[in-house]
Amino acid sequence: MKHITLNNGLRMPQVGLGVWQSGNGEEVINAIHWALAAGYRHVDTAMIYKNEEAVGKALASSDVPRADVWLTTKIWNDDIRKGRTTAALDESLARLGVEYVDLILLHWPVDGYERAWAELETALAAGKVKSIGLSNFMDEHLQDILRVGNIVPAVNQIEYHPYLVQAETISACDEHNIAITAWSPLMQGKFLDEPLFAKIAKDYDKTAAQVVLRWCLQNDIIVIPKSVNEGRIRENNDLFGFELSEEHLVAIDELERGHRYGPDPHDFDF
Ligand code: NAD
Repeated sequence: MKHITLNNGLRMPQVGLGVWQSGNGEEVINAIHWALAAGYRHVDTAMIYKNEEAVGKALASSDVPRADVWLTTKIWNDDIRKGRTTAALDESLARLGVEYVDLILLHWPVDGYERAWAELETALAAGKVKSIGLSNFMDEHLQDILRVGNIVPAVNQIEYHPYLVQAETISACDEHNIAITAWSPLMQGKFLDEPLFAKIAKDYDKTAAQVVLRWCLQNDIIVIPKSVNEGRIRENNDLFGFELSEEHLVAIDELERGHRYGPDPHDFDF
């Protein structure tokens, strides 16, 4: 497993298991156990995924010590709007059954995010979280946080895949050494519609999914592909024995078309 060193000095595993739409029972528990057995040491959940209880159970019932697993969760929009970020974090910790999370993110840039950021800074000082960061914050939202905050966010988790690289947001993050995590790195499963990935995959004896994820890794992006299938979970972490050529990286870069599978952070309503 490779790591990305964050601006707070912590090392975040570059591949994690995303658990959105993975249920809150046996399905997600099995997925996490398979992932840990396959070498993953990073799980990405959120209050709104409604599976923090099962994620906590999966971690508690595994042989891997809590300290060895990077756990991310997120503060949901209603809690940010209502000014109850601290309470929401405490509720997440209780559902997860842990004393701290490695990373807490503000899920979307909704009204109240400046105050929410101050609450995360307090939580960091209290030891409830090891790192604090953002999700879906575009350049202008990020500038607000940098202006009002005392601590530079460690991570910004944004939609990122070959059809959408969000160069402006990434360059603003690079300026402050804010690491990028890609959500929907596998284009929510639609990567199979793009013939180039399968074509490149043949040259390396890999799968199209591995080519897409490897392209992310070679761009220094953290990835959190979602799967509840044991074989795919293993496949999505088997990324370190090959390297895409410059020519193939450029060919994938050229697919960029500003296409979102998820909502636009400039214009969303939830
Ligand atoms: P993804 O891009 O990871 O795609 C997942 C889908 O791809 C699976 O459901 C499956 O259909 C397919 N798949 C996975 N592995 C495969 C393989 N090896 N071969 C073939 N098909 C495969 O989609 P996602 O779930 O949207 O994103 C990943 C994670 O990102 C989520 O689980 C969640 O943790 C996070 N996320 C965060 C936000 C945010 O706002 N911060 C938004 C969406 C997702």
